[in-house]
Amino acid sequence: MDLAQKPPYSTVDFKALAKADPDFKKTWQACAGKLDFQDPANLEALSKAILKVDFSIHLSLPSNRLCPPIPNRWNYVSWIQGLLDSTSPTYSNKYEPEREVIGLDIGTGASGIYAMLCMKSRPKWTMCATDVDKTSFESAAANFAKNNLLSRAKILQTTPSMALIPLEGLGTQQLDFTLCNPPFFVDAAEMEKSLSGEGKATGPNAVCTGSNNEMICPGGDLGFVTRIVEESLVLCEKVTWYSSMLGKLSSAKAIVELLKSHGVTNWAVGVLEPGTKTGTKRWVVAWSFGDLRPRNHIARHAGASFPHELLPFPTSYKIPLPSSITGVAACEKLNDQLAALDLRWEWDATTSVGVGTASDNVWGRAYRRAYERRKREGHVEMRDDAVARKTKLAFRITVVQLASEITLEWLRGNDQVMWESLCGCVHRWFKQT
Ligand code: SAH
Repeated sequence: MDLAQKPPYSTVDFKALAKADPDFKKTWQACAGKLDFQDPANLEALSKAILKVDFSIHLSLPSNRLCPPIPNRWNYVSWIQGLLDSTSPTYSNKYEPEREVIGLDIGTGASGIYAMLCMKSRPKWTMCATDVDKTSFESAAANFAKNNLLSRAKILQTTPSMALIPLEGLGTQQLDFTLCNPPFFVDAAEMEKSLSGEGKATGPNAVCTGSNNEMICPGGDLGFVTRIVEESLVLCEKVTWYSSMLGKLSSAKAIVELLKSHGVTNWAVGVLEPGTKTGTKRWVVAWSFGDLRPRNHIARHAGASFPHELLPFPTSYKIPLPSSITGVAACEKLNDQLAALDLRWEWDATTSVGVGTASDNVWGRAYRRAYERRKREGHVEMRDDAVARKTKLAFRITVVQLASEITLEWLRGNDQVMWESLCGCVHRWFKQT
């Protein structure tokens, strides 16, 4: 299996895992094929086996620290990979094996789990990792060393009064992303209430082995991630993507509302549903001050399970082709129309995919008129001048011949109105008759 693009978990095959891992086989046989998720030893055996079999990661943990359920952790990492791959400055929307990426795992914990999953699955990624807890910090460092990842890790033990994103302390000017699994609870009472399953129809899925400092912080998950948002408002583009997991839907909603209130327009929301008994539904939110737009299935991953008004604006737009026009004719028409505009357009005829970059609303009537006039008067600069000007909108258009439709994707730009206007314009070229 290609780890670089391993899909998220929807289930775990315990039987197959027992077959592949002798240690887990003992656990599986001892419970006669019925894992007791309330037994911390079982959870640890399960996490260690998944890490070993699926990722070749060997994990050691102090007995008094959190043992991370892996499917849920991997699903967050997988979403982050999709976020980064789909916002690469090359617009490739693919895993680029040579691309160097540097991330930060805030509160890496005794396992160092996110940092390890990131580095193991993406060989060119470097990870920074912080924690305030000495025992956890030392244990994470030992795990990196044990897995030969220490040379690609920058680790920093922080204190609660320090920044959550301590760029200077980490010796870096810029990060591609941050991720975080914050302490979830405000105090011990809230933690006990949640862990006893109070208020839930089915009780907790699995026992929680976290120590108090791993689970509790001022303001709970919302308080912690609010601090990340506040730091991000100062650091802005020094980090391309900020992100965090949230334990409660209400917290995820509050974070998106906070981002919106600060004028952030480029964000993404995901839901983690690892589909096993060891995983509880969680939320992930990412945001950026840059203008690269993630693919729609990443940006609106949380889809129907999130309030519509808090989802980011769609980054894809589909146009059904009128029955009177063939796929080949649609490609021709598209190229003719775009060639007449003052923008850069690169078409790949073998895949029927083109990428356009525009420095203005060049398809708007006023712009087109002025452009035509300048052309007539011989005042139009070399075509490549369009590239030198700042890109306000980049888009990809695919003619999907089999589905008889055209797909537009928003790749770059902060102007939602401009993107919508492009979609409307292309739609008019392919109006049903
Ligand atoms: N990332 C691990 C651990 C999450 S528990 C996992 O997913 O399993 C939350 C972690 O955040 C704990 O290890 C805790 O010590 C750490 N933490 C709490 N406050 C912090 C702070 N101000 N800065 C950095 N880490 C902090």
